[in-house]
Amino acid sequence: MASALERQDPAVYAAVVSEERRLREHIQLIPSENYPSAAVLEANGSVMTQKYAEGYPNRRYYQGCAWVDKVESLARSRARRLFQAGHANVQPHSGTSANMAVYFATLQPGDTVMGMDLTSGGHLTHGSPVNFSAQLYNFVHYGVDPQTERIDFDQVARLAREHRPKLIVTGATAYPRYWEYDRFKEIADEVGALHMADIAHVCGLIAGGVHPSPVPYAQYVTSSTHKTLRGPRGGFVLCERGLRRDLDRAVFPGLQGGPLEHVIAAKAVMFHEAAQPDFAEYARAVMDNCAALAETLLHEGLTLVSGGTDNHLLLVRLPADGPTGKDAAAALEAAGLVTNKNTVPFDTKSPFVTSGIRMGSPAATTFGFRADEFRTIGRLIARVLRNLDDEAVQAAVAAEVRDLASAVVERREREETWPPLFTPHEAVAPALV
Ligand SMILES: *Cc1c(COP(=O)(O)O)cnc(C)c1O
Repeated sequence: MASALERQDPAVYAAVVSEERRLREHIQLIPSENYPSAAVLEANGSVMTQKYAEGYPNRRYYQGCAWVDKVESLARSRARRLFQAGHANVQPHSGTSANMAVYFATLQPGDTVMGMDLTSGGHLTHGSPVNFSAQLYNFVHYGVDPQTERIDFDQVARLAREHRPKLIVTGATAYPRYWEYDRFKEIADEVGALHMADIAHVCGLIAGGVHPSPVPYAQYVTSSTHKTLRGPRGGFVLCERGLRRDLDRAVFPGLQGGPLEHVIAAKAVMFHEAAQPDFAEYARAVMDNCAALAETLLHEGLTLVSGGTDNHLLLVRLPADGPTGKDAAAALEAAGLVTNKNTVPFDTKSPFVTSGIRMGSPAATTFGFRADEFRTIGRLIARVLRNLDDEAVQAAVAAEVRDLASAVVERREREETWPPLFTPHEAVAPALV
């Protein structure tokens, strides 16, 4: 029987079906994306989208909140337990909203904040001139050392002493190395600054126990939920218990109205999944697979920012006389390999053109690709980049990509090793496959 969507709105239905096919036939290498489980999608698509619930569990402005109170309380306690944090606010609509909430709770307009500069890997909300963050606050940027392309702690300490920021932001959107939160805490303590760790990218690696947690070293931890944590699109904030009132007030009524309780239900499912032993295995596989990809790309003669990776992502620095990131990412997509153009440290090209491409392992690992297959993917990427304008090469690689992806799907079905949690086929619109 046709689904309600198919009957009622064939145009939207067709787009969703095509998106499902794209997710199956291309290899998703954008490191900020993932495949949420069928359970996460079910909660996210549930009737809880109907409910107005301004306020917090047991302190709402509307009647009828018994069941949304239940899921929001579950989400909060699961988040606290997963990250061993004093308090969790699970209402931010996105990672950006989570960052906004901490800024709103801790800063006055014009206050000085330190964050990573954008070409070194920092996020828009860490003081990009086109973002509210730079328009409201005085951002000072630290970056990476030009030789090692790793965080330059001498510079961090020097800038902190010189500018006395009220808040130091750690975390990034395109930094392939570990974060040393303890060293940032030392510097923040020395100058009397608060420390906010934005773990939007590495939250799943932290939850899986393969990356250090900033919770002991930062008053505030912000995150998205749809990246390595593999949940619905959204955000959350963790903080020390003593700071919870101001934080909660900043989220609501400070910045948002009614919370998205269907998304919060899906976040609750996500926090539960991330606490399971197989999620730790997943996080380990994400790291191993990214290392295998990096090794292959280096072997193929490509240059990686900082020479490699300690996490789920890597950045290819394209040669100065070579293609732009924009052209390289377009050629790779034509070959079925979905990445994104990205600035690299000290990039002179605009963020819309760039000298780099960013890629990572979280989504393809969820899909079922293993280390050997990531090596094959690495060789395919190098082949496309060496023959950038050759459409025949792109078509040949696209065919290999489809074969590789269907072999992985078959193996998953044959071995039944992959728990239902991880099956993108059912996960992506079950009625449509
Ligand atoms: C992705 C990201 C965010 C923002 O998340 P959105 O949900 O897209 O708003 C914030 N900070 C960092 C470091 C990120 O990588």
